[in-house]
Amino acid sequence: MKIGIIGGGIAGLTAAYELAKQGHEVAVFEKEAELGGQASTFPVEGTRLERFYHHLFTSDRHIIQLINELGLSSKMRWIDSQVGLFHGGQVYDFVTPLDLLRFTPLSLPNRLWAGLVSVYLQRQADWQKYEGITAKEWLEKYAGKSVYKAIWEPLLRSKFGDSYDEVSMTWFWGKMRLRFGSRPKGMQKEQLGYMEGSFQLLIAELEKRIKELGGEVYTNAPVEQVVVKEGKATGLKFQVPSSRFQVPGESSTWNLEPETWNCNVIVATVPSFVFTEMAPELPSYYVGKLRHAKYQSALCLVLKMKRPLSHIYWMNISDPSIPFVAAIEHTNYMPPEVYKDRHVLYLSNYLPLGSPLFALSQDELLQKYLPHVQRINPEFDLDWVEESWLFRDDAGQPIITCHYSQQVPDHRTPIQGLYLANTSQIYPEDRGMNYSVHLGQKIAGIVHQFQV
Ligand SMILES: Cc1cc2nc3c(=O)[nH]c(=O)nc-3n(C[C@H](O)[C@H](O)[C@H](O)COP(=O)(O)OP(=O)(O)OC[C@H]3O[C@@H](n4cnc5c(N)ncnc54)[C@H](O)[C@@H]3O)c2cc1C
Repeated sequence: MKIGIIGGGIAGLTAAYELAKQGHEVAVFEKEAELGGQASTFPVEGTRLERFYHHLFTSDRHIIQLINELGLSSKMRWIDSQVGLFHGGQVYDFVTPLDLLRFTPLSLPNRLWAGLVSVYLQRQADWQKYEGITAKEWLEKYAGKSVYKAIWEPLLRSKFGDSYDEVSMTWFWGKMRLRFGSRPKGMQKEQLGYMEGSFQLLIAELEKRIKELGGEVYTNAPVEQVVVKEGKATGLKFQVPSSRFQVPGESSTWNLEPETWNCNVIVATVPSFVFTEMAPELPSYYVGKLRHAKYQSALCLVLKMKRPLSHIYWMNISDPSIPFVAAIEHTNYMPPEVYKDRHVLYLSNYLPLGSPLFALSQDELLQKYLPHVQRINPEFDLDWVEESWLFRDDAGQPIITCHYSQQVPDHRTPIQGLYLANTSQIYPEDRGMNYSVHLGQKIAGIVHQFQV
């Protein structure tokens, strides 16, 4: 079969790799100049770095197996995580259960109670029972308002921004299970995984394997439309740069007329709001489900600095007056030597589309954030910042609301031969590279089952 894959992120590349292994003729169409989607990278100090902070958990078995299969396991580094919380003007460690006991802003009974609630949730196996209640409601009721406010609201905000109070308890339950599962047995500390050289290695290896198996990978090739004839997907229309292939360092010029690529099957891995525009023939009941998927945009300001901000890798911010939700200091995880002794800090935000922060330039945003970074470390100065980058992704985080399972669209769309595999369909787990690998493998299995 001839299969067109829309989107060259982790899901699209994995699907293409799996389908090419099955002997199909595949072609990947990616709108950006680089592959990798949300996990894509940019050059920093002679190596590469994710546009958005990335790590793996030890429980991320699908991606770990893929990394092994591709012969990249020697590149994986598993490093103790340093998690913290900025609360009341102070940085608190939040790595081991003992750190929770030392968290003096809460009374001792509340600290003990918070620990018990965490252990209770980690031991629950039935996610369905949490579908009808928000995390805020459940946690306020069972953990208490002060525990919720001090510890868990910042965690929810760090993922969902101002939509934190809409998030289903099922999502929160999943996070607790995941973090518990990622601690090696008997160990109090959590280990997180990163690739020496960045996850670009995985992306590049997938591209190489797809090509070795006879597949094609086009970048700078945004798909505009799925071609449908008599209820069947027969091709896709995409914009071709006049150079046909991207020439490194050169900006692309575009043909005015999109080109049609004929095929038997299409797998789209783009966000739901992009997919609805591409396939206007989809029936309204399916489009209704696609439109139900709401996302928070991710906005990340990355700073390359002369000095470290703190000793924490992942710092949730428990202070709504601070205009970012987490400070992730990558070089408190991977050593600064990797980046020629420079320190890398991500200031992270999850925002609704209309947020006024999007109207700010990179410099304006830096100026806005600056006094707040100084609250974390009063010595911090603009002088420390040697270079900065601003990245945005409008499908950064699907908002997992109550009864989400009823709204997840089927991977098989009502149009014959047209399939969808995107991050809004990962449930009850949360989006992440591991689950995009799984999505890619799963969709390849489904295509094989229904088309061959
Ligand atoms: C801020 C942030 C932090 C994260 N941290 C982690 C982490 O620590 N660990 C982890 O495992 N995961 C993390 N993730 C999530 C992880 O990056 C994603 O779950 C995963 O990369 C999604 O892959 P995907 O292929 O499903 O989707 P995407 O990466 O969104 O891929 C979709 C692709 O489709 C392309 N596309 C869109 N429109 C078109 C079009 N018209 N034509 C052609 N192509 C198109 C896009 O450019 C993109 O490349 C993070 C994500 C964000 C935003």
